[in-house]
Amino acid sequence: MQYLPFPVTAEDDEAEVKKLAKKPEWEPHEAAWLATYRAYLEKSGSPFEVLPHNFGPGVGDRQYSLYDTRKGSGELRRMRRKEGLKSCPVCGSPVTGDLDHYLPRTNYPEFSIMRANLVPACTHCNSGVKRATVHGGEPRRFIHPYFDDWAGQEVWYVDVLPPFKAARFVPLGVPDLRAPRDEIVEFHLENVLGMQFQLSMATEWSSLPMQIKLRDTELSVASVTAQIHQELDVASASKGLNSWHAALYRGIQRNTDAIQYLRNEAIVAILPPGA
Ligand SMILES: [Zn+2]
Repeated sequence: MQYLPFPVTAEDDEAEVKKLAKKPEWEPHEAAWLATYRAYLEKSGSPFEVLPHNFGPGVGDRQYSLYDTRKGSGELRRMRRKEGLKSCPVCGSPVTGDLDHYLPRTNYPEFSIMRANLVPACTHCNSGVKRATVHGGEPRRFIHPYFDDWAGQEVWYVDVLPPFKAARFVPLGVPDLRAPRDEIVEFHLENVLGMQFQLSMATEWSSLPMQIKLRDTELSVASVTAQIHQELDVASASKGLNSWHAALYRGIQRNTDAIQYLRNEAIVAILPPGA
């Protein structure tokens, strides 16, 4: 859930197809293949408007495999190890290091090595539930980090639901998203956040009272609220506006019952020796 600068120019992407087309096995497909690339850019990768192209028997399988032979080197390796990413651009987890096909290569093998279709992501995103899912009922689709510039703003938060001792963490779009972004975000959250997200939220939540106690000698509602604000600022700056932790603190910030609970727990928490 980030807006990322385009990784390459359209010419760079097309150059790869043109290079392949120098070989006899790809030469007959060059024109149609380049046409699919242009359609992708024109339609911003929308799964509702970009239709898979049938290149003939066996060609899709070979296009699909191109990614496997290339992902470990050159441009794709550089994209996977992209520096300066604060969190996974797809799900917001603190992990990076893999690449995700925005339009899955199972359905769209023609875009298997198109860099406009390849998004830096965490391994969870690349191997998770998302793989089998292309879109929901229109307009429900995934956020595209290269085309959805609005994803550079806050798009979600985590609603913390009682009982707070065993809280539940529900990801929600921020209320002021206008249509169709509200449905796009809802679909995205439903399909990229799994068990790892829930575990991470539970760990962070349960450690918060002690963190608060260590940093706040006053332990008033106002001082705890101020600490949550500060944690949100730190998470936004270090992990990104739409990272898991920023979304959690954004959710706590708007939840006075949760803040009251954290304050009460911090008051009764027993500091470890030497703290
Ligand atoms: Zn991810």
